[in-house]
Amino acid sequence: TALLEVNHLTKQFGKDSKALTDVSFSVQEGEFVSIIGPSGAGKSTLLRCLNRMIDATGGEIRFQDLHVMDLKKKELKQVRTKIGMIFQHYNLVNRLSVIENTLHGILGTKSTLAGVIGYYSKEEKQQAAQILNVLGLNEMIYKRADQLSGGQKQRVGIARALIQNPRMLLCDEPIASLDPNSAKVIMDYLKKVTATMGITVIVNLHQVDVAIKYSDRIIGINKGQVVYNGSAKGLTSED
Ligand code: ADP
Ligand code: ADP
Repeated sequence: TALLEVNHLTKQFGKDSKALTDVSFSVQEGEFVSIIGPSGAGKSTLLRCLNRMIDATGGEIRFQDLHVMDLKKKELKQVRTKIGMIFQHYNLVNRLSVIENTLHGILGTKSTLAGVIGYYSKEEKQQAAQILNVLGLNEMIYKRADQLSGGQKQRVGIARALIQNPRMLLCDEPIASLDPNSAKVIMDYLKKVTATMGITVIVNLHQVDVAIKYSDRIIGINKGQVVYNGSAKGLTSED
C-alpha cells in the first residue's frame, strides 16, 4: 500500500477563496515526487495540510495507514516525527550554531533558550555531527547560522529535518531563494541522502526543468486542482 494517500482534499480560506479543490493522489514508499504549478496554485497550502501545520477543510489524508486529519494532539506529534519539513527561507535560528539548529529538529525538547546544546544527549550530538558530515558541513558545526550562505543554510535545514529519522520529507520551494549552482548542490544532496536512507520526498518546485531532472513523478497543480500526475519523462519544460 501507499505511504501517503490524499483523497478529495479541500482547503478553503475564509468564505469563498478555495486554495485546494478535490485533490487526490498517492505516494509510494521511496518515491521522489515534485509538485509544480504557478505561484498561488496551492502547492504550499497542500504541503502544510499534509502534516497539519494548517487544517484542511475536507477530504482525507492517510499516512502509514493513519488518518492524519483525525489524530489527537499526542498522536499527531508522534506522526510529525516521521515527517520532516524543509522551507524556502530555511527557518533557522540565526543566533544559534549549525549543530544547535540541527538538534532543534528533535521535537519535544525544551530547546528555546540559550545553551541549548546542553539539553541533548551525547548520542544525539554524535548523530547531529554525523548528519552534518554527510551534508559537507563538518568544518562549520559551531558557526552561527547567520554567517552561512543560503546554500549552507539549506543544508542545515536538511540536517534538521533528518535528525529524527523521518520516513518522508516535505520540501516547500527549497531552492527558490538560491542561485542555480547552490540550487543544484541542494537538489543533489536531497536526492542522494533520501535515496541512501530510503526516505520518501515531496518537493514543491516552480522550475519544471529541475523537477524533470530529479523526480520519479510529477504532480501538476493549477488553481487548487491536480492537472497532471505522471512520469517526469513525458514532460518538457514548455508544458
Ligand atoms: P503556491 O504555494 O502554489 O504559491 P499557496 O498555497 O501559497 O500557493 O496559495 C494558494 C492560494 O491560497 C492563494 O490564492 C493564496 O493567496 C491563498 N492562501 C494561502 N495561504 C492563505 C492564508 N493563510 N489565508 C488566506 N489565503 C491564503
Ligand atoms: P511563501 O511563498 O514564502 O510561502 P507566501 O506569500 O506564499 O510566501 O505566504 C506567506 C504567508 O502568508 C503564509 O503563511 C501564507 O499562508 C500567508 N498567505 C498567503 N496568501 C495569503 C492571503 N491571501 N491571505 C492571508 N494570508 C496569506
